[in-house]
Amino acid sequence: MGISPYVPGRSSVDGQKNVIRLAANESAFGPSPRAVEAYETLGPSLHRYPDGGANNLREALGVLNGIDPARIACGAGSDEILQLLARSYAGPGDEVLYSRHGFLVYELAAQATGATPVAAPEKGYRSDVNALLEHVTEKTRILFLANPNNPTGSYLSRNELRKLWRGLPENILLVIDAAYAEFVTADDYEAGAELVSHAQNVVMTRTFSKIYGLASLRLGWCYASKEVIDVINRLRGPFNVTGPALAAGLAAVQDQDHVAQSRSHNDKWLKRLAKEMPKIGIEMLPSVCNFVLLRFAEDSGRNAKEADAFLIKCGILARNVDNYHLPDCLRIGIGQNEEMDALLSALKKFMA
Ligand code: PMP
Repeated sequence: MGISPYVPGRSSVDGQKNVIRLAANESAFGPSPRAVEAYETLGPSLHRYPDGGANNLREALGVLNGIDPARIACGAGSDEILQLLARSYAGPGDEVLYSRHGFLVYELAAQATGATPVAAPEKGYRSDVNALLEHVTEKTRILFLANPNNPTGSYLSRNELRKLWRGLPENILLVIDAAYAEFVTADDYEAGAELVSHAQNVVMTRTFSKIYGLASLRLGWCYASKEVIDVINRLRGPFNVTGPALAAGLAAVQDQDHVAQSRSHNDKWLKRLAKEMPKIGIEMLPSVCNFVLLRFAEDSGRNAKEADAFLIKCGILARNVDNYHLPDCLRIGIGQNEEMDALLSALKKFMA
C-alpha cells in the first residue's frame, strides 16, 4: 500500500472533443500502415495462441540490430521487462539505484519487490555518473538508467555509459532503458547494445511504444546475456506478448522508412523548438527525445501550473511532472506540424 500508482499523462478534457495530445510521448504519426495491416489480418485467428517464443520478431530484431536473437526476450511493453528484471534480481533488503529525475517506473518496480529505491542526484538535469557510482552500496542489485531519460530528455554519451559500467561491481545489473533510442541523432550516443554484447551484467530494454507508434499494443524487448534471458524466460508468462502485437511489431521493424520519417520530423521540431522557446521567453532543456521539458519561473504569474491550465483551455495536453520532483516544469511531446504550430501560438499568448 506504500506504492503510489503510476499516473499516466492526461488523454482527454471534459467537454472538449478535439484535444491535442502531447502528454504521453506518443508517436506524432502513429504506426506504419504496414503494421496496421498486419495487425488487422490477425482478426480471423484471434482464437489461436500466439507464438510464445516471439521467434519471428526476435529474428527480425536480431537482423536489424546485428545481435543474436537468442539473447533477446520480448515483453508486454518494455514496462513488463523492467518489472521482470526488478522481480528477478532485487528483493527485501536490497537496493535499486536510479537517477533523481529518472523514469518513475524504476522506483515503483523496486518497491513492488520489497527492495529499497535509492535516487542519486543529477547535475543540470542529467544523470551524473559519479553520483550514481557514489550511491552504490553492498546492497545495490540493479541500476536502472533511462538513456535518454524521460522526462528530462537528456542522455549520457557512449563514453559516460562505459565509465558508469566500468565503475560498477560485476554483481550489479546495469539496465539501460533505451525507449527513445531511435529518436537520437547525436553522434556520441549508443543505445547500449555494444556494452551488452561483451558484458554479462548489462541489459538494454527497447519499446515499440515510441517511434514505432504501437503503444496500445504493448510491445517491448530486451537484449541481455543468455543467463539473464534465461531468467526472464522462466519468470514471464508463457504467452506474455499477444499475436497482434507480434505481427504488427514484425511489420513495423520491416518498415524502416517510416522510422526514418518520424526521426527526421522529430529532429526538425527539436531544432525549431530550441530556437522558438527562448524567443517566447521559456527555458527549454536540451532534448534528444520526442518531447521537451520546459521550465517556468516559479513566482512570475506564469508558472508551470498556470501554463498547464492555460494549455488545457486551448485544448493542448502537456504533462505535469510534479511526481518527478520537477514542479516548475512541463513535459510536452512533439506532435504533427499543425499541433506544434498550435502549441507555439498558445505558449506565445500565455507569455505575452
Ligand atoms: N522507459 C521509458 C524511459 C519510458 O518513458 C517509457 C514510457 N513512458 C517506458 C520505458 C515504458 O514504455 P512501454 O512499457 O510502453 O514500452
